[in-house]
Amino acid sequence: MVIAIVPLFVSAVGGFFLLNRGVIAPFDDVAMRQREQRVPIQHLRLLVWETLPPVDEFAEKQNHVAPPAYRAVREKIEAEFARLEEALRAEPATLALLERAQADWTQADRHATDIISVVTPVSQDQTAVTLQRFHGQVEAVNDKLTGVYDRISQKISDDHDAALRSYERSIWVAGIAGAVSLLAMAVGVLIVGRILSASVDRLVNGAVRFAEGDRQHRIEISLPPELHRVAEEFNDMIGRIHESEEALSRLAHNDMLTGLGNRRAFDDAFREVQDRKRRYGEQAALLAIDIDHFKRINDRHGHAAGDEVLRSISSLMSRNVRPMDKVFRIGGEEFVAILPGASSGQAREIANRLREAIAATPVPIDENAIAVSVSIGVATTTQAREQGELMELADRALYEAKSTGRNCVVLSGEG
Ligand code: GH3
Ligand code: MG
Ligand code: MG
Repeated sequence: MVIAIVPLFVSAVGGFFLLNRGVIAPFDDVAMRQREQRVPIQHLRLLVWETLPPVDEFAEKQNHVAPPAYRAVREKIEAEFARLEEALRAEPATLALLERAQADWTQADRHATDIISVVTPVSQDQTAVTLQRFHGQVEAVNDKLTGVYDRISQKISDDHDAALRSYERSIWVAGIAGAVSLLAMAVGVLIVGRILSASVDRLVNGAVRFAEGDRQHRIEISLPPELHRVAEEFNDMIGRIHESEEALSRLAHNDMLTGLGNRRAFDDAFREVQDRKRRYGEQAALLAIDIDHFKRINDRHGHAAGDEVLRSISSLMSRNVRPMDKVFRIGGEEFVAILPGASSGQAREIANRLREAIAATPVPIDENAIAVSVSIGVATTTQAREQGELMELADRALYEAKSTGRNCVVLSGEG
């Protein structure tokens, strides 16, 4: 917008000055000269010619009406000279010419006065000579006034030409500014169009990525401000959706009682184990853990005590595995542990550590300390490919552990 408006503004301001100084002022000047100089000069020239008839008439016939008529014209001539002097004050060269005309006029007037002031002519010859001189001076005045008139006309013509040139120039400036403005507007529209379409593309692309499940992508739009606000709202919305999805996912993958991962979390974790095995050949071990005679604990101490035992054992197991290991509760009193990178020997070692820690830590409930033990079956990914198959091996080993007296660890294939 600014790009388009600036040339228009510049052309408007420039055009105003150009029109004002270059066109209107010279035209004003032309009008002023016409009104205050050329018309009065013309008038003065006529007045000067008008002095001839009364003087001639008086010289010929001594007509007594002639002198007052002459004096009336003379008064007008002098007033006109005074007015012109004032009007030409700013132009010394023209003023000098006018003053010379005025000097000639003074001379002419002197001759005229000589003629009309004599009631009885001295001699006819003398009057004829003075009359001739008077005529000569009137012509001289007229010549000089013509010179003044020509000068003023020249000035008027120059001003007129200058005004016309300025007028043409202002038309050009207006035309060029108009063209530049149109061009700038077209460029502006193009740029705005590009920005708009790029912003809309980003918005659409962001929405598509969101629909495809990408929750990390954020839409970056700075212009126009309206779309910037839409993008910000959209980003906020994605952020909120992402948070609630994560919260839901946590709920869906966590066991409420113990805080351990549940069967769904175990399935996801096992997929990772399979991925790492496929990509890097990394092995892992699986522990199937079951509390011994848990039903009895429930029966003797109540269901709430049983829950407390479940919580206590869960926390104990989490503390006794390695940082990279993970324990899940996949059933009532059944747990599994995934031990990434563990060989069967290491797995047995960890399983025994868990078992011993549990056996050595009775769960305090009211005034009782409930002794708890677990049986553990161990299988490794070297023994099975599929999750189900591996679970089956670990379960079979667990069954072995149960049947060999409980509170012990059995490795799959050893039993
Ligand atoms: P075994 O040594 O052969 O494993 O015997 P067990 O008694 O532990 O096994 P059984 O499968 O006979 O009993 C499991 C019991 O666990 C039965 C059920 O009432 C109890 N149980 C399952 N889920 C929960 C739970 O969330 N809280 C409590 N308190 N008890 C539960
Ligand atoms: Mg069981
Ligand atoms: Mg049990």
